[in-house]
Amino acid sequence: MAKDKSMSVCCPACLEDGTFRICDLWDSALDPDIKERIFSRDIFRYSCPECGEEILVAYDCTYLDKEHNFMVMLLTEKDDDTTIETTEYNLRVVRTINDFVEKIALIEDDIDDRIVELYKIMLEDQFEDERPDAKILGIYYGGKSENEKNLVFFIITENAPNCRAHLSLDVYETISRQFKESADKFGDTSEVGRDWAIGVLQNSFSDNQK
Ligand SMILES: [Zn+2]
Repeated sequence: MAKDKSMSVCCPACLEDGTFRICDLWDSALDPDIKERIFSRDIFRYSCPECGEEILVAYDCTYLDKEHNFMVMLLTEKDDDTTIETTEYNLRVVRTINDFVEKIALIEDDIDDRIVELYKIMLEDQFEDERPDAKILGIYYGGKSENEKNLVFFIITENAPNCRAHLSLDVYETISRQFKESADKFGDTSEVGRDWAIGVLQNSFSDNQK
């Protein structure tokens, strides 16, 4: 059951404590606007009653999408050992607001997040070859291109202009075929991120060496 809660937030601008009303379960069936409020990050936006400063505050919560049979849990503590109950839904655990938003955008567009994570590693390698001085902070899914034939990704770097990459749906299918076996072998898909993808690629590489 969803529980409305509140948490205390200290404003970074005026250092005044305030109360932030949060909710630990977002069910897309019960709340048709919720996806938009997640994409805009409104559910994480705290505005200080003292000075009006707006900040994003991450907190533990779960998004449930019965239609797509997915559950996405945001656990903000890196070493959180919360026991995750087994669920009938496809479960994904994420650690940051950006990852939470990205998973839900992929579910909404019917894109397999496992293929996306594998692609990101390939993109990272390619980008580092082309621009060895650029330090990548993250690569995020930015939706489908206008003609719906490509998936758009934003490459966020520390020290170079950010850029975009396009993954055609043909290449997406190719990656999907190529790594299906390895990806399926990695049965625990609750945390599908960079580490998971590196594991699959290494496994697939060592299989090819046999
Ligand atoms: Zn303030």
